[in-house]
Amino acid sequence: REEMNIIQGALELRTKTVQDVMTKVEDCFMLPSDALLDFNTMSSIMESGYTRIPVYENERSNIVDILYVKDLAFVDPDDCTPLSTITRFYSHPLHFVFSDTKLDAVLEEFKKGKSHLAIVQKVNSEGEGDPFYEVMGLVTLEDVIEEIIKSEILDE
Ligand code: ADP
Repeated sequence: REEMNIIQGALELRTKTVQDVMTKVEDCFMLPSDALLDFNTMSSIMESGYTRIPVYENERSNIVDILYVKDLAFVDPDDCTPLSTITRFYSHPLHFVFSDTKLDAVLEEFKKGKSHLAIVQKVNSEGEGDPFYEVMGLVTLEDVIEEIIKSEILDE
């Protein structure tokens, strides 16, 4: 029964972690911080269909900003505005969670917070050097809710 599935899904929030439901970093649509908002870049943003786009510096594992598609409302592609001009202007806060955070805990965070998207990271202490934070992917409120209702939410 549908109700049983939902209850089951809700109970599993206590055991499942962010890593189980996140979108992996290699599947994330992101932009490099030195991108120009020309026609090509703006088209690819629109085609991606996402509303929030992480911005990385130098390598995809180094996320420094987040662009909201609505920030582009006053941007003219003919101006070739640097992406950094826009991200600096809006300067949305970035939220991070550790990959082993339980889903009930992130749900609480999302309920409190202004943002319903978090960057997932873990401490990488493999290898010889000092441990460092490694970006694993991103998680949104939709990923958590999907886990509760146990079926894909089809985006428009
Ligand atoms: P949107 O509002 O952009 O559709 P949602 O919060 O509804 O984003 O999330 C829908 C799905 O898309 C989730 O599985 C989420 O992890 C994934 N997602 C959100 N933003 C991105 C992005 N920039 N690149 C790749 N996947 C993303």
